[in-house]
Amino acid sequence: MSYKKHFQILLFLFSLISVSNIVDSKEIAITFDDSPRHASGYFDGPTRSKKLISALKNHNVQQVAFFSVSEKLNAEGIARLNRYAEAGHIIANHTHSHPNINKLTLEDYTKNLLIADNKLKSFNKFEKLFRFPYLREGNTLRKRDGMRKVLKEHGYKNAYITLNNYDWYIEVLFQKAIKEKHDISFEKMSKFYVDTLMKSIEYYDQMAVNHLGRSPKHVLLLHEMDISALFIGDLIDELRRRDWKIISPLEAYQDEIANFQIEETLKFNPGRIGEIARTKGQRKGLWHQSLNEEYLDQAFKRQVLD
Ligand SMILES: [Zn+2]
Repeated sequence: MSYKKHFQILLFLFSLISVSNIVDSKEIAITFDDSPRHASGYFDGPTRSKKLISALKNHNVQQVAFFSVSEKLNAEGIARLNRYAEAGHIIANHTHSHPNINKLTLEDYTKNLLIADNKLKSFNKFEKLFRFPYLREGNTLRKRDGMRKVLKEHGYKNAYITLNNYDWYIEVLFQKAIKEKHDISFEKMSKFYVDTLMKSIEYYDQMAVNHLGRSPKHVLLLHEMDISALFIGDLIDELRRRDWKIISPLEAYQDEIANFQIEETLKFNPGRIGEIARTKGQRKGLWHQSLNEEYLDQAFKRQVLD
């Protein structure tokens, strides 16, 4: 074989490698629920919002979504959502008072959603995306199908998540340790937060690959909390280190899995990947082991307090 031929083969192999790199880059959108969420002690609300916005900006994240609860919209809450919108982030609907659909009638739940719609729609960057509180979409056929119809009639998309975790419980542990005056190492705290979330992210991504044969455009569930403001930058760095690309939630909801609808009626919902896995027959492990308060209690004690 001539040198030229060798060179051409080499070029061809390199092109394969670069193409596979593009194909292999996994994609993730970041979303924060419950904004403007109450302050628990470490930051006050406005400080948390400022820190969160600058962390996202400093890490070149153009757009995340804030699923907001309109009951919390006092003057401070409105100012916080305006600040998120001004920074280019999406404001979306998470109901008025964060009800549990399993405990409400379809009519009352719908009313709650529409009150929020009315209060949130005037925000700049508002999008008709609806995130079900507790991810619960209706424990009876009537409620579930009723909600699917309500969302459609009002031009809303179901803003499902694919990457489930208990970040809200990590916040509980963090705030409690601060109140009890534990001498917390922020380096350890960051590592605990990032490691715990990365484990569940990779777990659900693998579950998706097992059942779909590909890594979909993912949606990460987080909450608007102090640990998010403190450590989101570290999480983003780690995601990129492991070849993840951060995309807008609007892009994530273009994925084919946005059209998936589960046939069953679920009382508790593990998220879209869990739903798909269940439909394909998987019954165990739909919730990652870190979605468990006892697990996190012990891991926090071992990895942060000791
Ligand atoms: Zn919520």
